[in-house]
Amino acid sequence: MNYTNFTDLQQDLKNKKISCQEIVQYYLKRIEKYKHLNAFLEVFRESATETATRIDNNIKQGKAIGKLAGMVIGIKDVFAYKGHGLNASSKILGDFKSIYTATCVQRLIDEDAIIIGRLNCDEFAMGSSNESSAFGKVLNYLNTEYVPGGSSGGSAVAVSADLCWASLGTDTGGSIRQPASFCGIIGLKPSYGRISRYGIVAYASSFDQAGTFTKNIEDAALLLSIMAGSDEYDATCSEKPVPDYTQVLQQKPSSVKCAVLKDTLENEGLADYIKIAFENKIKELQKQGYIISYIDFPYLEYLIPTYYVLTTAEASSNLARYDGIRYGYRSKNITEGDMALEQTYIKSRSEGFGKEVKRRIMLGTFVLSAGYYDAYYTKAQKVRRIVYDFLKNTFKQFDAIMLPSTPTSAFKFGEKTKDPVSMYLSDIYTVLANLGGNPAISIPLGKNPVDNMPFGMQIITDTFEEAKLLQIAGHI
Ligand code: GLN
Repeated sequence: MNYTNFTDLQQDLKNKKISCQEIVQYYLKRIEKYKHLNAFLEVFRESATETATRIDNNIKQGKAIGKLAGMVIGIKDVFAYKGHGLNASSKILGDFKSIYTATCVQRLIDEDAIIIGRLNCDEFAMGSSNESSAFGKVLNYLNTEYVPGGSSGGSAVAVSADLCWASLGTDTGGSIRQPASFCGIIGLKPSYGRISRYGIVAYASSFDQAGTFTKNIEDAALLLSIMAGSDEYDATCSEKPVPDYTQVLQQKPSSVKCAVLKDTLENEGLADYIKIAFENKIKELQKQGYIISYIDFPYLEYLIPTYYVLTTAEASSNLARYDGIRYGYRSKNITEGDMALEQTYIKSRSEGFGKEVKRRIMLGTFVLSAGYYDAYYTKAQKVRRIVYDFLKNTFKQFDAIMLPSTPTSAFKFGEKTKDPVSMYLSDIYTVLANLGGNPAISIPLGKNPVDNMPFGMQIITDTFEEAKLLQIAGHI
């Protein structure tokens, strides 16, 4: 299949030059060929083939087809899809099967998208390298010695290796943008509340947001137009009207005013080759008429600590539901007697959760505990507010903020597993948008001169300014 844009593919589908069945077979073959990358946890062979046949029949009969007919999509293993397995890459969900479909997945299906399978990720979306999945690591397609990033590593690899046309991920602190940067593709995290979280396994509910991995901006805009919008099942999902994001791409942005956060470039963790590439890009944009100001950002060092206090607190509460009683994994090592119930909780959770998830549940429980609540949780909430206000004020004067997506390009397996803090720091540039609830995108910027691994640049706009974000990203 030699298509670079979806409009051409769909045109050929309508003209019967290609069928959905052929498209699905093409991807199934590639998925088989690249099995060793471990991107897919499950391939939905049967339902994908059935859907393809149904759409092909509709085309044959001259019936109208959906906007996504012909698009094959993989979903991160945190999205519910009725009748299909769902594990959040954890042992604790056992053989759980979804009893309903996530709103955003349903909206894709309603437009005739074909869901090809569920994609590996870090357990409960906690991680930056995909090494914390209970089902094994995902290899970077560009060089299998390197991590694909995380937590949506499988979603990034599936698109970069052409195992599906586009994929869904979630981004709580960078899990779409960081792997997109490491895999050389585009990762879009919309504003908090732009896409319903109904049917998505919760990690940190005030941060989680679904988004996409694509090879071009047009697809990101199309998918967002379809998935975004209010949902009676998610009270935090915004009722703001959803513009047709594909339309804005036709227009060129006029005199864009951008802020570059000085402190992000002075950060000692930032690799030289990224700094150079980023600064060159800024100069190039200035020549093209972008008005760029370097501004102070005194909060950089507080972002990761704030993020980890708040998200672990929320995670410790969200993950309390996996108790070995209601669904999923239950330990078999329970002896009958007085303590059987307590033993069921303790052993099921101890055996079912992986190390990183346990670390976060404990940390979150600690920061919420009576004696420490004010010192950690309340304080972190206050910092979040300061960051939010900073962003709001910045966007009164600027259209966008630009910064690197990640401090380095992809690292090798095992490099950061022993030092969680160094792993956490790989999200230093991405958590900002999650703390503020802003939309952000990572687009390819350059390659590491030593190992040729890609890295991206990031654009952030004011909340619900996805149209502007996509327009600028498309132009760049
Ligand atoms: N890497 C970050 C973390 O481990 C972000 C995860 C995410 O966005 N889901 O928390």
